[in-house]
Amino acid sequence: MLSALSQPLRILITTHHKPDADALGSSLGWAHVLQARGHAVTVVVPNDFPGFLDWMPGTTSVLDYEQSQDKALKALQEADLVCCLDFNDLKRNNELGQKIEQSGKPILMVDHHPYPKDFATYSYHKVEASSTCELIMDLCKELGWMDAVSLDAGTCLYAGLVTDTGSFRFPSCTPNTHRWAAHLLEMGVRHFQVHEAIFDQTPVEILRFLGHCFMNRLKVLPEWHTAYIVIPQQDLKDFGVRTGDTEGLVNYALNLKGMRFASVIIDRGVQVKMSFRSKGKVPANLFAIQYFEGGGHLNAAGGQSGDTLEQTEARFLAAMESFAPDHLR
Ligand code: 5GP
Ligand code: MN
Repeated sequence: MLSALSQPLRILITTHHKPDADALGSSLGWAHVLQARGHAVTVVVPNDFPGFLDWMPGTTSVLDYEQSQDKALKALQEADLVCCLDFNDLKRNNELGQKIEQSGKPILMVDHHPYPKDFATYSYHKVEASSTCELIMDLCKELGWMDAVSLDAGTCLYAGLVTDTGSFRFPSCTPNTHRWAAHLLEMGVRHFQVHEAIFDQTPVEILRFLGHCFMNRLKVLPEWHTAYIVIPQQDLKDFGVRTGDTEGLVNYALNLKGMRFASVIIDRGVQVKMSFRSKGKVPANLFAIQYFEGGGHLNAAGGQSGDTLEQTEARFLAAMESFAPDHLR
């Protein structure tokens, strides 16, 4: 792969739909690194990212495929290489994924999700990595490119390290993760600013929405060490909830004493979207794959349902009846 990157290329970087801090941070971090190495880079996201990621250096030149399809397709047409970051199935890239497949361009995939699909020309894939941002640091080291990791790049990459590890607490966080965090701090990344920029931006109506969820929408299945939250579409309207505002909600359910499995089930109108989180060996991704056309990591996964919210909750409870005896006793 090093030889492929030895001459200046036009490179398109993309990531999964509804990009989170690891998706956008790794995309922008890698973009800064490639630019420092003399490549011309365009970052294209399949749809919009949450406002609390606006501060990342480079966001103003990111193309949103849904808003700027012509520009995005032109960048794809001109690209010598496509980098797919933080996903391993082109379906997770929406329509842009189909266009990439049809383009026949060489693809570099950098990702840490299990069960990668076989679409990449070059693959840098480690399931044990905490985050794609960690993998970008590993890759830069392997390529001998550490001098291309600027403060801007490091700041973007730190964001993925901190979020995908739940602020350095999940089992996926390793000495390697901490070594890169230490390296980035030594470079001058202001970790407290990154943390504040991501976590301390809650609008008052969203805090009230969380209160409403805890009071009125949270359910506990003590016998299965499971807590879940079911959110009708009307709640999203009533409280003005937007993309990204519900991220993290599922973790509150898992914070409850004794819980080992948690879910948030949200009626988004077009479909019902589900998030799953677990502790220890409880396979959240298996649950997502088996029952809700989803996937993800062992402890963090997601899925969806085309049924109504009520039907989905009933299916969730039925799924628990077969899943829980094996995994949540
Ligand atoms: P979240 O609950 O934050 O939306 O997603 C948690 C994890 O599950 C992420 O790593 C994400 O990539 C994965 N995930 C969420 N939804 C889906 C889905 O519908 N399909 C697959 N394959 N993975 C998903
Ligand atoms: Mn990730």
